[in-house]
Amino acid sequence: MKPQWSRRSLLAQALGKIDEASRAVTPPIHVTTTFIRDPDNQYRSGNVYGRPDNETVREAEAVVAMLERAAGALVFGSGMSAATAVFLSLAPGDHVVAPTVMYWALRNWLKLDAAQWGLRVEFVDTSDLAAVKRAVRRGETKLVWLETPSNPMWSVADIAAVCEIAHGAGAVVGVDSTVATPIFTRPLELGADIAMHSATKYLNGHSDVIAGALATAREDERWTRIKRVRATLGQILGPFEAYMLLRGMRTLEARVRMQSASAMTVAEHFAKDSRVLDVLYPGLPTHPGHDVAARQMLGGFGGMLSIRLRAGEEAAVRAAANVKLWKRATSLGGVESLIEHRASIEGPGTPCPGDLLRLSVGLEDPADLIADLDQAIGANS
Ligand code: PLP
Repeated sequence: MKPQWSRRSLLAQALGKIDEASRAVTPPIHVTTTFIRDPDNQYRSGNVYGRPDNETVREAEAVVAMLERAAGALVFGSGMSAATAVFLSLAPGDHVVAPTVMYWALRNWLKLDAAQWGLRVEFVDTSDLAAVKRAVRRGETKLVWLETPSNPMWSVADIAAVCEIAHGAGAVVGVDSTVATPIFTRPLELGADIAMHSATKYLNGHSDVIAGALATAREDERWTRIKRVRATLGQILGPFEAYMLLRGMRTLEARVRMQSASAMTVAEHFAKDSRVLDVLYPGLPTHPGHDVAARQMLGGFGGMLSIRLRAGEEAAVRAAANVKLWKRATSLGGVESLIEHRASIEGPGTPCPGDLLRLSVGLEDPADLIADLDQAIGANS
């Protein structure tokens, strides 16, 4: 009988496939845009054209499916194209429930473009189950979208409880699990229908690829529609990027466990700092989502946190300007630690407080990260 290797072992070897032609341990990058048709006019390889068909892309997808214990996975040219493919698989007129606080660019797209295209999107606090229950309409709501922990307050939605509400009303549940990563949360095992990742972040992990991923609980009609959206709109990941993603994912578990431990150290340190109004991190017992996170997140609370400065917005902008080790940049999930004055990038109408600094904890020594942030805040007070 074939041994059942653990997910950690399979991940380290990106499923351990050996290239038959060359016997290479590291997979080759398949760049062809077209494939030979058999003399009898068939395409027995299953490969016809590079937009839907690419072997390097499929290898990356197999790893994502393994990580999420999914029936299938698709990678995309960005996290945004992965998420929007789910919404574009709905029909104009469909009712959708989405979080009030979520990745800002997707929220803006839902508010402006998806609404214009005919989706009826209702934003609620998805960490409040009563609010979700009130918003979901039997037979009308087709999708409940969650992001947990969610940008940039790291509020936590109870995936299993929301699935019960949504499924009871005939809706499916999609979860942006970018920040949780498949190491700490498996949305499909909690009942979700689709898990989504900005693979730009932890999955790739090195701030050098823009990519997205979806994983599905079932190969159903909705999944077929999503595949068609990707193939026809061409929201594909190029083979070089798919290879980079495949390489990055091999070290996912080692990276995120270390990042999560460091984020906890940083959070606990600044929670005791009188210059800090609040530390938002689901790993802290004071965080409103802590109990759900402790149940739902397996072995870690992730590498993202935010701090709010008592001295206000200008002090937060100045603190970000004063860092020497942290890198002042948007994005998250890379090996280098990033700091960002989040309200500035989200712009007018953001629900993000002006005094908030978003922190993506990388692989540096947490003592150095604390010392640097300490001096950066100190220069303001
Ligand atoms: N979801 C989350 C939680 C994100 O942080 C981001 C990007 O910052 C996205 C989705 C969008 O991903 P991408 O930038 O890969 O399109």
